Amino acid sequence: MTPRIMVVEDEEPLSILLRYNLESEGYDVETVSRGDEAEIRLAEQVPDLLVLDWMLPGLSGIELCRRLRLRPETESLPVIMLTARGEESDRIRGLSTGADDYVVKPFSVPELMARVRAMLRRAHPQAISSLLRAGDIELDRDSHRAHRAGKELKLGPTEFKLLEYFLSAPGRVFSREQLLDGVWGRDIYVDERTVDVHIGRLRKAINRGRQRDPIRTVRGAGYSLDDKFLS
Ligand code: CA
Repeated sequence: MTPRIMVVEDEEPLSILLRYNLESEGYDVETVSRGDEAEIRLAEQVPDLLVLDWMLPGLSGIELCRRLRLRPETESLPVIMLTARGEESDRIRGLSTGADDYVVKPFSVPELMARVRAMLRRAHPQAISSLLRAGDIELDRDSHRAHRAGKELKLGPTEFKLLEYFLSAPGRVFSREQLLDGVWGRDIYVDERTVDVHIGRLRKAINRGRQRDPIRTVRGAGYSLDDKFLS
């Protein structure tokens, strides 16, 4: 089951950024820019989690949240409220708006992603895990640690993200371009050879003292993590 997330945010650049990052985490994302429009969509279909801006045209995030709590279909829908600094009042601090959590803008995207994961895990413990595993390699997104055969791997931030990306689909071949988009992000210009350099570092870190290399170079296509070579 792919968790479905609705983002209600009227600042378009932020909405695009959130969609991009949530989709890279593997969620289905719907974005809406007005509070009243969100209310209509939520009456039709209830997502697994709602990221809700506080100040919205049409209907405020607070009022929308209050109304959602009155309907049985949405009374326990997990809600993360976004507020701008200065908008946070005692009301939101005490979460008496009915939101489960709130994040003050400007926030760091990884921090929001961690909260989303934590909240989905609470709501659907079986559907989402912070642990990714293939063979004897294990990566924990929350503690940001990775192990092979119980030994901690020393990975730089880029190698960690590369490994996380490979572990999201063991056996799948990713092109250098896909790895650039998924690991470095679309806005940054990085030479494709940079991917090769970081793959080299990742190989070194995970293969220390081992014969078989689970990272396959697929000529003309890219790279994959082959779990056949992990014991
Ligand atoms: Ca707003």
